[in-house]
Amino acid sequence: MDQDFSQKIQQIKEQVNIVDIVGEYLKLTRKGNNFWAICPFHQDSNPSLSVSQEKQIYKCFSCSEQGNVFIFLQKYKNIDFLSAVREVAKIAKIDLEKLHLNLTESQKIKLHPFKILNNLALNFYQYQMTTDLGKAAFNYLNDRKVSEKNINDFAIGFAPSKNQLLEYLQLQGYQTNEIIGAGLAKITDKDKVKDMFFNRIIFPILDLDGECLGFSARSFIKNQDNLEKANFKYINTPETEIFKKGRILYNLYKAKNSLNPHNKSIYLVEGYMDVISLSSQEINNCVALMGTNLTKEHIATLKQFTNDIIIFLDGDIPGKEAAIKIATNLLAQNFNVKVIDNQTNQDPDELIKNNLEQFKTIINTTLHPLDFAINFYQTKYDFKQDSYQLKTFLKQLQDLWNAIKDPITTKFYLEKLKVLTNLTETELFSVLKESQQIVASNVVNQVNSKQKQSKFIPLSLKQKFLELQKQLFFFSLLDYQVYQILEKEKFIFDDQRLMTLHFLITEKYQREKIQQIDLQELLNLLKDNELLPFYQEIINQHQNKKYQFTASIIKDDIKNIKNYRIELKIVNLRSQITNTSNPEKQIELLQQMSNLKKNLIK
Ligand SMILES: [Zn+2]
Repeated sequence: MDQDFSQKIQQIKEQVNIVDIVGEYLKLTRKGNNFWAICPFHQDSNPSLSVSQEKQIYKCFSCSEQGNVFIFLQKYKNIDFLSAVREVAKIAKIDLEKLHLNLTESQKIKLHPFKILNNLALNFYQYQMTTDLGKAAFNYLNDRKVSEKNINDFAIGFAPSKNQLLEYLQLQGYQTNEIIGAGLAKITDKDKVKDMFFNRIIFPILDLDGECLGFSARSFIKNQDNLEKANFKYINTPETEIFKKGRILYNLYKAKNSLNPHNKSIYLVEGYMDVISLSSQEINNCVALMGTNLTKEHIATLKQFTNDIIIFLDGDIPGKEAAIKIATNLLAQNFNVKVIDNQTNQDPDELIKNNLEQFKTIINTTLHPLDFAINFYQTKYDFKQDSYQLKTFLKQLQDLWNAIKDPITTKFYLEKLKVLTNLTETELFSVLKESQQIVASNVVNQVNSKQKQSKFIPLSLKQKFLELQKQLFFFSLLDYQVYQILEKEKFIFDDQRLMTLHFLITEKYQREKIQQIDLQELLNLLKDNELLPFYQEIINQHQNKKYQFTASIIKDDIKNIKNYRIELKIVNLRSQITNTSNPEKQIELLQQMSNLKKNLIK
């Protein structure tokens, strides 16, 4: 952390009194200059923890635990430094925004005040599950074979009816707009503020530190058709500054802690209930998507913890298609990927509940994604009879095929496909190679490695682009044949000034039937015109050089200029890609970029 940052942290420390902060959590008694409390860091019966207002530190005379206000919170709440800073700022009512701390995106999220609200809401919902009100939800879960242990392990809660959370948080001193901002309440059509979730089972979504980012809430009341229609089965916290579905993987907090040197793989499943059911089978290395596709951010997050992913989705057609798509994206980023060969129409949760023996067999049946995809598409396309279907079959494998970078695997499946399709290696290659998606993912890598340089490219590229056009224009003055090539190629100058000059000589060539332009004559013609200095610059740059130009040189120049034009657009797109954090936008831009690349003339 930089100098500036430590200074600002120092300022926060100076604005608070450690006695107030510790007093929020421990009962303090004044004796002389110091305050005393029962020490929370060891089995204490007499108050042996002293808090010094003068020195702004705490110290236990029994277990020697000591430190400043931040260290107290880190140890007491088992949180990291930045989270402790956030708690202190909250208690002392310091607006961290106004301090302009120079933080990274992840530090900003860590410090975010919404987390405190969410953690409070989490405790509230969990408590509600244990009350009479929560009984119906508790029983519903039990009926679905979600045990009390599951409920505790996953901090599953219950949101009661009416506005109980809102009232609870307001009583804690939170402003209504903060509560709405954190996605815990909403404004209704009738301009009333209401709890976001009511009469629902609540699944908290935790970040990698185990802190709450938001919630997913499931309706559970049966036999109320209208209610079911009005309320979706699951609703989530709306996107907030900290709750972004495209970045969150449910249960990653726990899954990462369950990895060990003997088992470093992570199961990727579709829903929360899959994760919870798998954990009842002692399978804890399991994460679920928040009902979205696997994004670039998800992939980057997973990469921090593992290289081995096992995909376990529904056995129905959409489930299989999703598995193939996800496997393709993961393989392209060099993960080892396996897909569980689930031939039932059930998801892991249903399998565990309906047929545990079958589940135990299925979970041990993993396939390479290509085998999985070949099996799947084989049932879809009758390629033994129909060449069109054969081609479609291979096209479907294309993205997956191109995501595999290992030559041995490629060779292995090439042999397999040869037998299956009766095609030769060359024939297979001509259909399988080259794929949109992979072009895009390669581009991502290029963008990342070239990020630093790319700032300098636009200027020189633009310069070259203009210089080459000026030279071409000069040639067109010297020789009518050059002019003719430009016309034939339908070449248009990009620079407005060159366009005007070109128009001028077009008139001369057409009207006067000359073989070249008299440079001096054109100069006189441009007298008093604002284009004169530009024209003069071109003449000065080129007239004393000895040029030899053939038709093929001119055509080369035209090609280069056209390519520069495309490259400039690519550079522009590339900087847009680095400047946007919206993954969908990035993919769209990458697509445009790869389309542009195809237009480059070789
Ligand atoms: Zn102690």
